[in-house]
Amino acid sequence: MISIEEALKMISNSTHSLGYSENNLIDSLGKVLSENILAPIDLPPFDQSAMDGYAFKNGNENVYKVLGLIKAGDDASKIVLNENEAIKIFTGAFCPSSADAVCQIEHVIQNQDGTLSFLPKPNSQANIRKQGEQIKKGTVALEKGHLLTPASLGFLANLGIDVVKTFDIPKVGIIATGNELVAPGTQLPYGKIYESNSIMLQAVLKKYGIEKVILSKAKDDLEATTTTIQTQLQSADVLIISGGISVGDYDYVSEALEKNGVKQIFHKVNQKPGKPFYFGVKNNQLVFALPGNPAAALTCFYIYIVPAIRKMMGGTFEMLEKIEATTETSILKPNARAQFLKAKYKNGNVKILEGQSSAMLHTFSESNALVYLEQNKVIKQGDKVETYLF
Ligand code: AMP
Ligand code: MG
Repeated sequence: MISIEEALKMISNSTHSLGYSENNLIDSLGKVLSENILAPIDLPPFDQSAMDGYAFKNGNENVYKVLGLIKAGDDASKIVLNENEAIKIFTGAFCPSSADAVCQIEHVIQNQDGTLSFLPKPNSQANIRKQGEQIKKGTVALEKGHLLTPASLGFLANLGIDVVKTFDIPKVGIIATGNELVAPGTQLPYGKIYESNSIMLQAVLKKYGIEKVILSKAKDDLEATTTTIQTQLQSADVLIISGGISVGDYDYVSEALEKNGVKQIFHKVNQKPGKPFYFGVKNNQLVFALPGNPAAALTCFYIYIVPAIRKMMGGTFEMLEKIEATTETSILKPNARAQFLKAKYKNGNVKILEGQSSAMLHTFSESNALVYLEQNKVIKQGDKVETYLF
C-alpha cells in the first residue's frame, strides 16, 4: 500500500492544466490568469488630488489667491498655478503639474480679504497621487497563474481591461454508487439510506470554483456501473465516483473502470480514513474513486482532489492551507495508518473531536480542520501538530 506522499506525487504528475479562454471580468472570478497582464496605462493616469482641499504653488508668504475650482473628471490640463496661487480641488480630480501640494480642507484658513492660508502647511507633493505611482504603463500588473479575486477584477477594471484570458474550469462528473441509496426528500424504505455524497461533493466543488457538475447514480452491478462511467467519460475532465471501490462482493467500480480503458495509477493508500481511495487516468482525464463512507470521501476530496483541481485550473498542485497548531487533545494510541483527524481550530489551538468514524458527517460538520497524525505516532496535549484548514 502506498503512502499519502506517494499518492499526492502520483496525482500531481498525472495532472495537467486545461486550455484557456477569454472571458468577461465577472465570469473570470476564481479562475487563474493564463497570461501576464501588462498595464495598458499608468495608474493613476494623471496626478490626482488625494484630498478635498486646495492645490497650491508655494510663494514667499503663506497667503494664496484662489483661482477657481477643479472637480473630479474635469480636464484641468491647461491650468497653470503661479506662485501664491491656489485652486479648490476635490478627491480624484486632476491636479495641475504646477501645484506643489494639496492642502486638505481641514487645514485651510480663510482670510478676511478672500485669500487663504494653510496651517499647517503641507510638505511638498503632499496629498498628490502621482501619475503611475500604483503601476506604470507596460509593466506587469498581474502574473500568469494569478488567482482572480474580487480585488484583482477591480484592479483590472481600473486599468481599463474588460476581458482576460484564464485557464478553463474542469468539467466534473460525479457518480454515486450503491443499491442502498435514496434521494433526500423522499420516503426512506427499510434497509435504505439517504444519499449524501453527491450534494456534499457538488458543494465542495462549488467552493473551489467549479459550478457545473454532471451527477449520476449507479446500482451495484457491473454493467450499470460500466455504462454510467462510459457516459460520464464522454465529457468529464475529472470523474469522481463514490462507493463501490472496497473489497466487497458488490464493489464493481475498479473493474468497470478497467473495462472503460481507465488506467489505474494506485488503489489503496495507507491512511485513515480513506484507505480504499483509487486514482486512475484515461489520457488527460482524471478518475478519483472515493470510499462511500461520507467522512472518508470528503477527507479524500480535501487532501487529494483540491490540489489536483487547482493545478488543472492553472494554479499549482497546492494542498489546503497547512499550519502548525497546538493540540488540546492527546492521542496516545498509535495507529499503523497515517490519520486525518477532524478537528476544530481556533487562535493557534486545535481540538481533535470525538467521533472520528468515517461514517460520521456530524463530526465533520462541527470541524474546520484536519489534523495529520503520522503512522505509529502519538500526540500529547500541548504538542505542535500539522493542521490543514478548510
Ligand atoms: P462503499 O464504499 O460502497 O462500501 O460504502 C461504504 C459506506 O458508505 C456504506 O455504509 C454505504 O452505505 C455508505 N455510502 C456509500 N455511498 C454513499 C452515499 N452516496 N451517500 C451516503 N452514504 C453512502
Ligand atoms: Mg457500496
